[in-house]
Amino acid sequence: MVSHDAYRLPLPALEKLGVETRRAGFALSYLLSAHALSESEVRSPFPVTFADLGRVHDGAYLESLTEPAVLSRIFSVAQEELVVDEMLRSVRLACGGTLLAAQWALAHRAPALNCFGGFHHAGKAKGGGFCAVNDVAVAVAALRAAGFDGEVAVLDLDAHPPDGTADCLAGQAWLGSISGSDFGPLPGVDELRLPPGTGDAPYLEALDELLSRLPRAALTFVLAGGDVLAGDRLGALALSLNGARERDLRVARALEHRPSVWLPAGGYGPHAWKVLAGTALAIGYHSEVPVPPDFDPLAVRFAAIAQSLPDEALGAEPMLTADDVAEALGHRRPQPAKLLGFYTAQGMELALERYGLLPHLRRLGYAQVHVELAAAGGAERARVVALDERSGESATLVELDVERKALRGGTFLFVNWLAMRHPRAQFSGERPRLPGQDAPGLGLSREMTQLLVLMSERLKLDGVAFRPSWFHMAYAARHTARFLDPARQGRFEALCRDSRELPLLEATRAVAEGRVQLNGAPYTWEPDEMVQFRDPAHVPDDRAQVQQARDASHFTLQAL
Ligand SMILES: [Zn+2]
Repeated sequence: MVSHDAYRLPLPALEKLGVETRRAGFALSYLLSAHALSESEVRSPFPVTFADLGRVHDGAYLESLTEPAVLSRIFSVAQEELVVDEMLRSVRLACGGTLLAAQWALAHRAPALNCFGGFHHAGKAKGGGFCAVNDVAVAVAALRAAGFDGEVAVLDLDAHPPDGTADCLAGQAWLGSISGSDFGPLPGVDELRLPPGTGDAPYLEALDELLSRLPRAALTFVLAGGDVLAGDRLGALALSLNGARERDLRVARALEHRPSVWLPAGGYGPHAWKVLAGTALAIGYHSEVPVPPDFDPLAVRFAAIAQSLPDEALGAEPMLTADDVAEALGHRRPQPAKLLGFYTAQGMELALERYGLLPHLRRLGYAQVHVELAAAGGAERARVVALDERSGESATLVELDVERKALRGGTFLFVNWLAMRHPRAQFSGERPRLPGQDAPGLGLSREMTQLLVLMSERLKLDGVAFRPSWFHMAYAARHTARFLDPARQGRFEALCRDSRELPLLEATRAVAEGRVQLNGAPYTWEPDEMVQFRDPAHVPDDRAQVQQARDASHFTLQAL
C-alpha cells in the first residue's frame, strides 16, 4: 500500500463542503488497528517529476498550475486559501504514488493500492473536478518510457465518467466506466451510465456485464470511487457500504493473480474513507467484514499517540533559561507557567506537533507558530500564535480558555472559550460565516475535540464540558456530548428534529436571529452546560425525562 501524510489536501474550505480530506489517514488508521496492515507495509511515494508529467500534459498547462487562479478553479476554493506549493506537493506525491503502486504491482504480479489518486477529470491541457493532473495516464507514460509494452486497462468505477482519462488515453488503453452521470459521449470508452439513485443490485448487475468485456491486460487500473455511496454530495448513485465492498470483491476476483493498481478516486461524504478501507480489505483478504459503524479513526490514532507521550514531556521544564542562571546565582527559581497546573507551553507545542496539528498549520501557510500561556479571568488560556510572514504581524490561530469545574456528575475540563481561526482564508458564498465566527476555521475541529478528551483523561477528570453559545456548536457535538439537564437535552433534540429540513447554516442563523418559536412563544437559545463523559457508565439514566421534554416541545422556524 502507498500513502503519505500529505495526501490530506491543505484545504479546510473543502471540509466545510462535506469533503473528508482525512480519507487516506482514516482508512490507514482503521487498517492498522484491525491488524490488516502493518506500518512496514505502507510505502511512501516520491513526488512525480515534471519530466514524467510532461509526457502526458501540455507544457503551458503544467506551468499554469503554479497560478493560484488555476488551482482554485480546479479545487473549487478561494485563491487566498491556496498554498500553491503545498497543493502541488500533494498532487505530485499522489501521482508518484500511482506510479510506485504500478511498479510494485508489475514486479509482484499482485494488486497494489495507492490511497490518493484516480484524478480522471484531468485532460492533457485542462484540469477540473479536484483533478489537476491525470495520475493514471502519467504512470502509464512513465512505464512505457521505461520499456513496458503490455496492454493496459482502466476500469473506472467512480460515480462520474472519465472525461480526462479519455482525453489522455483513448486508443492507447482499454477504458471502461460505470457512472451515474452523463457528460455526453466519450469516444474510446466502454461506458455504462446508470440512472441517479441506482442501488446495489442493479449496479452489481451492470458491473458483471462490464467485467465480462474487461480484457486480460498486463496491467489494470481500478478506480474504486468512494462517491458511489448513497448520500454522496457529488455522486448520484446510491450504493451501500456493503454494495461497494461487493463491487471491489467482484473486481478483485476478476483480476486474481494479475497486476492491478487500485485508486480511491472521488468520495465526498463522511463515509468515503470506509470505502477505501474496504477496498484494501477486499484486495488484501477478500474480506466481507464491514468496518464497524462506530469506529472513530481519529480517536484511535490519537489515543496511540497519547500513550507515546509521557506526562513529563507535556509538563517538561524548559532546558536552560535565564531562570536557571538566576537559580545558580542563588535566587529562587520561578516555576514555568502551566496550564491547569500541568501543561507547559513547550509541552503543549510538542503535543500539537506530534498529533499533527502544527504540521497541518504549516501546510496552511503558517510556518512560524508557537504556544503562549496566560491567565484569563478565572480560567487559564492557551493560544497558538502565528507570525504572518507577509505582513510581519502575529495572528492568533487557536485560543482556548479552560478550567477545572465541578458539575453534576463529576469534575470536568470546562472549556469557557475555544476559537479556531484561519485569518488567511476568507468567507465566501461556499464558505459562509457562522454566527460567532470572525474568520473561517482551520479544519481541525475534530482533532481539537479529541485533544480535549485526551486532556481530560490525562488530568483524570470525568470528561469535557462547555456551554455552546450557538445552535450549530451544540449540533456539531450532539453525537458525543449532551446537555446535563434532561429537560434542556429534550428541548435540544426537539429543535434538531423540527429543523432537520433546513440546512444547518440557516437553522443556526434563525436561532441566533430570534426567528424561532417554541410552542408558539419566542425562543431564545439557552447556552446551558453540555458534557462529554469519558466513561459512558457515568451518563445519567434520564431518558424518560429527556423524551418527555422532547415530545412536549415543538419548534417553528421562520425562514427569511
Ligand atoms: Zn467522481
